[in-house]
Formats: sequence, structure tokens, C-alpha cells
Amino acid sequence: MPQIRLEHVTKRWGKFYGVDDLSLTIKDNAFVTLLGPSGCGKTTTLRMIAGLETPTSGKITIGDTVVFDSESGINVPANKRKVGFLFQNYALWPNMTVYQNISFGLSNIREDMDQYSAEAREADRLIGVLKNPDTALAAVEDARDKAGKPDEKKALIHLTETLLIPLSSARKLYRILASSSSYDNDIKALEDVIAAERKKAQGSGCTLDETFRLVKNGSVVRSVRKLTKDEIDLSVRRVSKLVKIGMFMDRYPAELSGGQQQRVAIARTLAPQPSVLFMDEPLSNLDAKLRLEMRYELQRLHVETGSTFVYVTHDQMEAMTLATDICLMSNAVLQQYAAPLTVYNMPANLFAADFVGNPSVNFVEAKGSQNEDGSITLTLFDTMKADFIPAQPVSLAAWRKEREESDQARAEELKAKSREKGYVEKSNKDEIFRYHIQRAEETDDSLEAVKTAGDDDFVLGIRPELIELDENGALDGEIYGAMPTGMESTIKVRIRDYLLTSVIFGNLHFRIGTQIRMTIASSRIMLFERSSGKLITLGSLKF
Ligand code: ATP
Repeated sequence: MPQIRLEHVTKRWGKFYGVDDLSLTIKDNAFVTLLGPSGCGKTTTLRMIAGLETPTSGKITIGDTVVFDSESGINVPANKRKVGFLFQNYALWPNMTVYQNISFGLSNIREDMDQYSAEAREADRLIGVLKNPDTALAAVEDARDKAGKPDEKKALIHLTETLLIPLSSARKLYRILASSSSYDNDIKALEDVIAAERKKAQGSGCTLDETFRLVKNGSVVRSVRKLTKDEIDLSVRRVSKLVKIGMFMDRYPAELSGGQQQRVAIARTLAPQPSVLFMDEPLSNLDAKLRLEMRYELQRLHVETGSTFVYVTHDQMEAMTLATDICLMSNAVLQQYAAPLTVYNMPANLFAADFVGNPSVNFVEAKGSQNEDGSITLTLFDTMKADFIPAQPVSLAAWRKEREESDQARAEELKAKSREKGYVEKSNKDEIFRYHIQRAEETDDSLEAVKTAGDDDFVLGIRPELIELDENGALDGEIYGAMPTGMESTIKVRIRDYLLTSVIFGNLHFRIGTQIRMTIASSRIMLFERSSGKLITLGSLKF
């Protein structure tokens, strides 16, 4: 399975940058979600890797093959990149059955493939089953109808699915199993088929290897050919078993539910065994329950197929639950590329903290300076004092110096780039992220707070589940609103003019207006620099 590498990939239309200088390595067998708000460049990124969109500049490598390089003029077309697609509008062909929908693409494949003896391979497969027939017999037995009568159609589906054999082999097997209880003669006849096939191969100067491929002069004979009927059938059965649609093979799309249609679309994409599978919001047309169910299916498919999945979504929950890595973008620029829990617990900046997590993170503005012992004495909620204790020792001055140096290096890089031939200035400039401070009386002054921020201005990020009820807690507030779901309640607590969201687990009842005390006992509180919005460190608060 291949690794995908993007190096300085940019796509712009005129002065508008859809994707700006993206460098990224998608590891082999990863499940990467491209996440971000509408228009941030997720789909464009996916389409560029897939070969459906030509980057303006940069380099893309899939496995060992450079599929795009603006410098050397390489641009491998989409159909040669060996990738599968699954889009939001997965339109099945309405005039074709499920089986035909899945097999259609396979029957068009024409490539350099091994030559083999289909007859010998099938005979060998059947001998294997007949020598140990219990599974096959159980599959047939399971297929009796309500009256206990054998149901051939159902039995064939069971046989193809449990033994993973093509339908033609299942038919032969069914006939043998139904005709007698001793299979010695059948096995003998099948062995004769194999012997005859070997002889036939010898006639053309070949031998058959252990999987019945034709071998000539020590190497397997290959030729450009189409897939055989049995190979197609086997692939269709394999994927329909994976997505559990074996029983719908003869139905037309209109006779299926939305979720079943979706599964057919997934099966169709998986059938040619793509080593990389690209999906663009494939579940967005489904209702909430089905979506959740399909998420589990996709997760399982990822493990079972061993393919690399690249998945576009704007739904942070979907990205969190499915991905091995999240690629979070905003306004064409990569914000963070890390495992979901890393993005959740250690977001690179205020935007990442805000975008991931439901209910959203609480932002609290704070002002203060670092003490000699490393703690930072802060003023919160206008007048309340608290000490922030970093989880790991950090010097604010050193951190800031490093950040300024890296900003400067980036600025110089941009300046150098702007002098290059053909450089086009970006019209969609990076904007300051406007974090939201919840207040009882809504105001929106975060932009001003960032613009005028000095070295002593910070923003704390506190996840709702870190705020706990505690009679002896240092924070006192009033219940402003409560949303109980049975398992937990999301409450909004008013502290002076500010509101904090908290998630309290358990079956509790909260009355609006009740006075409560709370504590934040965690060492996972985030400290951001207000001017740059960047995460400085995690730590705890001592009131
Ligand atoms: P969504 O979640 O809404 O699908 P997205 O993150 O997938 O959004 P893209 O489709 O990648 O966004 O588009 C990124 C930006 O590039 C958008 O602002 C879009 O308007 C712009 N864009 C996309 N295609 C073109 C095009 N052919 N010409 C000009 N601008 C384009």
C-alpha cells in the first residue's frame, strides 16, 4: 500500500488561492480526514491528489510514483493513479441491478494480468470444500424456507458468501451436495479436470504453479486481458459481503433504501481493490442514524481492506471518530495535521481548538505575567485572580522569541517568493481568527482584543467536560441554561457577565437560576498567546 506525499502544493485561480503551499504525508494504511469550514480547500486538495484537478505548483507522489510535478511537467491522469472515488452524489445506474452496478466497472478493466487456468482453479476450490464439507452443508441447511424446504437461491448466496466462491462454482457445488452424501466420485472427476488442464498447459510449453497460473521458463505468463467472468463474480461477492448487500444483488436501486444504495456505491468503489480510496462527504445524504451506522461500516472497511482512505468532511464529529489523522484547513492553509485526540487536547491554535469539539471549547480572556517559579498569575473575568501552572516547564520569553523568529523566517520566505517570476499575490489573505467569548449580553470585540494584544494578553481554552460541580469549588455562578439528554447535561453557567459551558455526566436536574460552585481540576487547560492565537502550553489553574 502506498504512502502519499504532497510537497508545497498550491492551487490558485487568478489571485484566489484554493490551496496554499500544502505539504503533507499521508501514511500507508492511514484514514485521513480533510476537515475545515466550507470553502477552505478540502475538496480541491482531494481532487489534486486524485488527478481530477491540476495544481498550479508543487509535487505529489503516490507510493514510488511521482504523479504530479510542476517543475518537470509530470501529470499522471486520474485513471492511471489506481485510486477509487466515492462522492456525495454517488448516482447508481437506475436501469442496472445491484450486481450489474458493482460489476460494470470491473468488466471494463483491461490490463496486464497473470494468465491462469480457470477450470483447474475452480476444480481445486471445489475439491477443498468437498473434502471438508461441513461449512458448505451448514450454509445450505441455513437456507431452508419457513416450511423447511430447501431454497436454492438463498443457498447459493450463502455458499458464495461463506466460501467466497463465484456463483458458477456455487451452482456446481450445490448440485453435488444435493445429489449424494459421498463425494469421492465427484472429487475424482475434479482431479481429472486438473490433470487435463496441466496436460493442456504442457502442450503449449507451460506448467501450472500452485495457484494454477501458467508458468513459462520460470516466470508467470502475463498478457493484457479483461477480467474473467469468475474473477468479476468473485470480486463482486467479496465486496458485497463486506458491505452486507449479498441478498440484494438482483434488485434495482429504486428498490433499495438510501443506506443500502450507499452501500452499493461503496461496494462499487471497492470492487477494483483500489489501494487508495478517496471519499468526498459520502455520508452527507443520509439521515443521522444511518450516518452513524455507515461510519462504523467505513471504519471496519478500512481495517478489512487495508487501503489508505482519504476522506473529506466538514463535520468535526465524523472527522474525530473516523480518522487516524486529521488534516485541518482554514482559508486554503493547513492549520494542524495530527491524530484526532491530539487536535482535541493540544490544538495548534485558537481556530483548531474552536473547530473541534462539541459542545465548543470555552475561551476565557486572561491578562498576566510569568513568576520566577514558572507559574503565570492571571486575571480572569475582569477581576478574578488565578495562577496558571504549566504542565511542562515553559519560559514565556523564550517561547515568544522562538515564535517571533519563526514568523520572521516565514515572512522572509514569502518575500523571497514574491520576487520569483510568475508570483501572484494572494487575494484571500489570512484573517485573524475571531474567537468567541460567551457573554450574557453578547458583544463581539475579540478582533479589537487581538489587534491591541500585548505580551501579557492570553486566551485560555477550557473544554466543557473539565468544568465540574464542586461545593467547595472556587468558581461560583448561576445556572443560565441546561440541556439534559439523560446520560449527561450540557449546562451554561453565568459567572458575572460571562457564560461557561460545562458537560455534567449523569441523570441530573438543573433549575435555571440556581447558585452553584464549580472547579476546574484538570491539567489540560490550554494557554494561547492572544496576538498570534498560537498554543503556548497546557496546564492547570489554581484559584
Ligand atoms: P465545501 O465544504 O463547501 O465543499 P471545500 O473546503 O471542499 O468546501 P473547495 O471546493 O476545495 O472547498 O474550494 C476551495 C475554494 O476554491 C472555494 O472558495 C471555492 O470557491 C474555490 N474554487 C473551487 N473551484 C474553483 C474554480 N474552478 N474556480 C475558482 N474558484 C474555485
